[in-house]
Amino acid sequence: MSDVRRRWMIGVLAAIGVLSAFAWWQRGAIALRLVAIGVDRLTAQEDPVAVLPDGLHVFVCGAGSPLTDARHGGPCTVMIAGKKMFLFDAGSGSAARLLRMGLNPARIDAVFLTHFHSDHIDGVGELAMQRWIGAAAMRPLAVYGPTGVAEVVAGFRAAYSLDQKYRTTHHGATLAPPEGFGAEAREFAVPTAERRMVLIKEPDLEVVAFTVDHGPVTPAVGYRVRYKDRLVVLSGDTRRSDAVLREAQGADLLIHEALSAKFLGLLARGFDRHGRSRYAQLMRDIQNYHSSPEDAAMVAAAAKVRRLVLNHIVPPLPTTALNDEFLGNATKKFVGPIDVARDGDAYSLLPSTHDVVHFQRAP
Ligand SMILES: [Zn+2]
Ligand SMILES: [Zn+2]
Repeated sequence: MSDVRRRWMIGVLAAIGVLSAFAWWQRGAIALRLVAIGVDRLTAQEDPVAVLPDGLHVFVCGAGSPLTDARHGGPCTVMIAGKKMFLFDAGSGSAARLLRMGLNPARIDAVFLTHFHSDHIDGVGELAMQRWIGAAAMRPLAVYGPTGVAEVVAGFRAAYSLDQKYRTTHHGATLAPPEGFGAEAREFAVPTAERRMVLIKEPDLEVVAFTVDHGPVTPAVGYRVRYKDRLVVLSGDTRRSDAVLREAQGADLLIHEALSAKFLGLLARGFDRHGRSRYAQLMRDIQNYHSSPEDAAMVAAAAKVRRLVLNHIVPPLPTTALNDEFLGNATKKFVGPIDVARDGDAYSLLPSTHDVVHFQRAP
């Protein structure tokens, strides 16, 4: 190395050292400045519906499952359809992740539950409270669900009723109006013969529930959401299902649950080795009422959907380096794009186009 280059190197290293020392000395002031920027963003909480272009927008606010996952929340999918904001399933921590994604929970018009396994409803109470106080809501949060949702919603209301009294007493009825507290059930029974039911039908917007196969868990439904000429289908928890295939015909986006028997087998054998037979049995039991990535890909191919998003990922993947192994032969069954969902994945579907624009909205 020449003398000139050596002197340059020493100079650069010295400058880095001086800057690092200065940053350490000033760390409190720097942190305060960053907090001020964060507070500005947090308190702005713009209306996500107002800032998005007209269309159908999908946000993955929870790609996880009941198994503990440090990187992903429980099942949670936001769909913004025109001026409406809907939430499909409200897994653990949904409200917090919506806030971090700039999707103000106070803006939610309705929640749609697919079934009542705990991982899909854990966040309902927290979400209803965030919406109530955040929006000074004058009506409870509407929660659609198949038969049984009234019981679930009544349970959350009972659990939070003392808190309602505290907050209305403390903040007053203008900020915490008692009539807007909690949630109210919009229960429906999908007719056995039709196996589908139209819940919302407007000229530009249609939401349909359809029966899926998650037995012994019944009822269990998926949802089909059409806004103008764009279509998104959410499978809910199900084995490979003809109903999903029927409803997803020509869909722009199919959001399908997925479970890897291979990875669960690894976990089961690990629990066996450590004498934890109960956990090993659980890893084996859960395999019989879900879909594999290949199942989801076969449905996507037969339905000719534009893009497939796998969510409700079981078991949790500690790194995206495992995505290809998780997918297995799915990429051979469906040649279109397949995403292994992560919290923060977002998709924009504008009317009168065929594009599905994928981007990240960090949670
Ligand atoms: Zn589930
Ligand atoms: Zn389930």
